[in-house]
Amino acid sequence: MMKALASPLRAQILGLLARGPLSYTEIMRSLGLSPDRDAGKFAYHLKTLVRTGLIRPNSEDGKYEITDLGRLAYGILKGLEERLSPRKRRMVVRTSRLAMEEFDRTRIAEALMREAGVPAELASRIAKEAEERLVMARVRYLTAPLIREFVNAILLEKGLEEYRHKMTRLGLPVYDVSKLLTSSPSWAVKAAACGKVLEEYALIGVLHRDVADGHLSGALHLEDLRHWTLGPSAIYHDLRPVLASGPAPAWAWACAPVKAPGELEDALLNAKLLVMACSREVGHEQVLPFLNLFLAPFAEGRNEEAIEKAVKRFLLELAGMGALDGGQRTTLGIVLTPPPDLEGLELPGPGGKLKAVEEVEEAAKLLAKAVLRSFMALKLATPSLGLVVSLDPRSTDEELLDLACELAEQLGLPVFSANHVPEARALDGSCHLPDWTGDWELDLLRTGRVGRVVLNLPRLAYKAGGRRGLEELLHSLRELVEMAIRASAQRRGLLSERARHKLMPALMAELNGDAYLRLRNASFPIAFVGLPEACLALTGELPHEGSDGLEAAMRILDTLSSLLVSSWGKLDLRCPLSAVCDAGVAERLARLDVERYGWAKVKVLTSRERPVYTTSRLVPESADVSREELLELEAKMHKRASGGHLLFLTPDEVPATGEELADLVLMALGKGVRALAFASELTYCSACRQAFRDQHPKCPACGRVSTITRLERTLHGYAWRPRGGERAW
Ligand SMILES: [Zn+2]
Repeated sequence: MMKALASPLRAQILGLLARGPLSYTEIMRSLGLSPDRDAGKFAYHLKTLVRTGLIRPNSEDGKYEITDLGRLAYGILKGLEERLSPRKRRMVVRTSRLAMEEFDRTRIAEALMREAGVPAELASRIAKEAEERLVMARVRYLTAPLIREFVNAILLEKGLEEYRHKMTRLGLPVYDVSKLLTSSPSWAVKAAACGKVLEEYALIGVLHRDVADGHLSGALHLEDLRHWTLGPSAIYHDLRPVLASGPAPAWAWACAPVKAPGELEDALLNAKLLVMACSREVGHEQVLPFLNLFLAPFAEGRNEEAIEKAVKRFLLELAGMGALDGGQRTTLGIVLTPPPDLEGLELPGPGGKLKAVEEVEEAAKLLAKAVLRSFMALKLATPSLGLVVSLDPRSTDEELLDLACELAEQLGLPVFSANHVPEARALDGSCHLPDWTGDWELDLLRTGRVGRVVLNLPRLAYKAGGRRGLEELLHSLRELVEMAIRASAQRRGLLSERARHKLMPALMAELNGDAYLRLRNASFPIAFVGLPEACLALTGELPHEGSDGLEAAMRILDTLSSLLVSSWGKLDLRCPLSAVCDAGVAERLARLDVERYGWAKVKVLTSRERPVYTTSRLVPESADVSREELLELEAKMHKRASGGHLLFLTPDEVPATGEELADLVLMALGKGVRALAFASELTYCSACRQAFRDQHPKCPACGRVSTITRLERTLHGYAWRPRGGERAW
């Protein structure tokens, strides 16, 4: 029988009949044989097949058909053929270009050379091997990711790990996407899927290995990894250019911008265009500092009612925009007392006419009042709007301060920040100080901030231990800070590169010959978590409990800031020390430490069910200290952490009435606390579009139940907290 199959022509006949019965002439025609010339040869082959029982003539219609034996033999033959010569079987690949293409191993070789720089000869050897294995595996549904898996396995087997690393494919398992789809709204699915790829890209394809490992192991944490390679996480605007001569062309798109706005409404429209244009390039926050001051020339001569109407509309539009962008926040900076730097500054007014700050102070107050009253009237508590109220505690407008405190009491909203001493002029909760070039405009405006690199202090303390623990910790701090700075410097390099290639068109739009964003002045804060816990692990005392604990805290802070300041000059990198970090980071790092060291060693001041390290405070929330003592201790930390400090007081620590709040704000800022805010819980009704203080089972206004959402004022603004547990996204 094997002999019967040995002839290619006989194998072809068998193949034809495997698809269905055919007559003598049909077979001949299908094989392209001539009835005259080839008849003898053909008859011989056909007879051989019939004789061995592989095919038989059907007595009814005279057609030839394949027998069971013939079918079996043909199957074996095909299998052998495929194994012996791979190119015989056509493999179809579903490529990443969303096309079906015939398998071609040169594509693999090309990819190896292009993506990983594999030498040509080695690349084609690996491609050949991959092809052989794919054929052997008889894969039915061949996709580009699958081919990559084969290639990567071969690279690993050959010990070519570096090439393998570069060939990594980023993305999500099908399972994860399915889970996202069943638990999150559409925009969150998109954001999560895209964010995940960029995050992995940063970790696998960009960061130095030791930095990526440091992040994964929890020695440090890189905030905003998904935006790491894209642009700044936050930017600080300067409204004056768009108020003087209208938005840059790159910001206006199809909108018809108002060139030199003549009235407040047009000025606000231009501000909105600026925020809209930049929202696509900024990670999550845009700050409009000195808003009421810069807009003041446009409010002159307008009555309170008209100003408030225009401001309300502006706020609602910004709030809506943030919701559209899925998590973007605009933070408005209101000054109750103009800071000393701005003395004599000339501001553009209607039609580009200049006015000195002193001339428009009353209008600035009217605008501040309008902003505060609008927030209050609209009960505007939303994750997409932030408010910073800065003032001089020695001389501030009482009416405005009371309004701001009423807002704090009702909605927990504003961050109060000091602007009376040059080194304390925070523009937002995470703080941005004039301490870089020495020129307040360059330091504060048209610049950005990236996500922080957060150092895990308790881990260093667990590692150090012993009597000389503190010295050891201070020593090991060097290494960790070096790593954090290296990561920041690398990020700055990436962002500069993108800026050079004009890949941040709105941020780098040309404005009077300069790029709008002065990337050189952007800050790359280095932050920390768990300072009290680290002191406790080292000395057995929390910083507020005794001199050992406090001394340890101060020495850690001083060492950190001197390490950072010394690299400012060396690397020309603005990397201030920040005491603040994103919610969630402190929990992640604490959990990783518990996994690594166990409860015998790990110090947390929260419950074991939900371990979280202290962040942004020197005195933990549970501490039993007087208010004065608390403020004085926190002021010590604020002074040292110039790149971010925000004392966030819990409801237990906050007096009930707005009046008492005002006293507390003045006392805190007077004692050297540079920024503070108040926690509060709110109930938001989507039908009334209003937030109400405290938690309510039903809307206090309309009585509906299903429209209620829990809202919490956290360290970084508002966060939604739906009833029935944590949200999935
Ligand atoms: Zn309602």
